[in-house]
Amino acid sequence: MDGFSDELEFLVDSTNVDNVGDASEIDYDLDELDDIEDDDRDVVEYEFSNSNGQDITGAALSRDKPLLLVHRSHQHASILPQVLNDAADRHSDELTLGAVVSMPRMSPKSIKSFFNIIPSDDVPIRIADPECFARMDSFGEELKKQRDKEFVGPSTSKYWTYFTEELPAGFTQEWIGAVLDAQRDCGATVLLSPGLWVDPASPAKSLAAMRQHAVWSRERVLSGEHLAVNVTLPSSWLANDVLREQLLNEIVDMSDPVFYMRFRWPLLAQPYGHLIDSSILEGYMELSATCRDNDIKLILPNTGLTGWLALAWGAHGFSTGMGSGERAFADIRLIKIKATGPRPAPTQRMFSSPLLHIVEKPILDSLDRLPNAQRCSCKFCIAMRRGGDGFDKPLAGAHYLRRVADLTAQISSAERGRGVAAREIVTNACVYKDESNKRVPLANHNNPRHLPLWRALL
Ligand SMILES: [Zn+2]
Repeated sequence: MDGFSDELEFLVDSTNVDNVGDASEIDYDLDELDDIEDDDRDVVEYEFSNSNGQDITGAALSRDKPLLLVHRSHQHASILPQVLNDAADRHSDELTLGAVVSMPRMSPKSIKSFFNIIPSDDVPIRIADPECFARMDSFGEELKKQRDKEFVGPSTSKYWTYFTEELPAGFTQEWIGAVLDAQRDCGATVLLSPGLWVDPASPAKSLAAMRQHAVWSRERVLSGEHLAVNVTLPSSWLANDVLREQLLNEIVDMSDPVFYMRFRWPLLAQPYGHLIDSSILEGYMELSATCRDNDIKLILPNTGLTGWLALAWGAHGFSTGMGSGERAFADIRLIKIKATGPRPAPTQRMFSSPLLHIVEKPILDSLDRLPNAQRCSCKFCIAMRRGGDGFDKPLAGAHYLRRVADLTAQISSAERGRGVAAREIVTNACVYKDESNKRVPLANHNNPRHLPLWRALL
């Protein structure tokens, strides 16, 4: 036996994971899965407009309906077209749908196949995220330290010169052109600027680079194409008053209409948890309101229900997905243990919509047995209950995404505005928690610790 084979590695996204069963949800290796999912389907050419010649992507970006982006996961992604179809059938009047793929962690063929099976009229926004922040000359070293390996492995990085190419003379407009070309080739309908890490150690220099890259990107965008300024930053840019003011001033001065902003969160307190740092949340609130007041469409990728909350503050859209990495862009840590026995079964978790929180499946079952409880009757839950032992991870993920779409639609069409509607939903969740807690204790990871904080900020 060699030195590696008796060791199991788990990447976890929360501070107090109790056992490996908790961590096993996110132990996948990002590099191994996509080529398996490739099929021989012919890849079609994409159109930026629908059959009537209308610019449906432009209309989707500019209209006043929230944008829900489903971020493709590395596991169980084959159910996502059904999830998107379901959301389009039920909510096309209330929200705009989009799909996002992680470009350097997939093969071009996998990306095209995925986009190919999503109906373009229902899902007008397609983003191939270049994830340039993970380059080794950006945030890559830090990511590598957290994972103990490269963010993008050789099975997919070989396709992406823009990601691997060394740039000793720095980032150039020509390189930015290559970043945009790669997204075009995959069929993206909204192009992103590279989105390099904005280092708070040298704020003025980092912001100047962000702006320069946006200018160069805009110069490379063709007539009829759409661009979002892509920015990746540590959450200190939100929590720290001085940094936040500099950032907001820069965004307003830039005159770009769409921003795609991803903030690195600290290690979360619970698996599939929420951000519960009030200073960061307050930063999101101010950022969202500033964008709304200045007619900037703000998209917050990988934020889960925190992104939904930000819709109430003025954000335009957010992304989430099946896996914890799609729901939160947060620090992670690596656990290594000796593989002495059989691998523990993963903890089964489900999204409780009335609680706005992920809980363990037995807890959800207990909540569903309380008097006046309404068990979820969505088609994914019904399919899961038909399936025997009562749990299926792709269906559980589909249920979560369906309920997030419902929550988004619910605040989109509210008569008194998104803020009031979100406050009502969060207040109801607080009441539901207090009532349920008397019969079904919601402790540890099952405790929706974010609710009081959210309520205070609405
Ligand atoms: Zn359901």
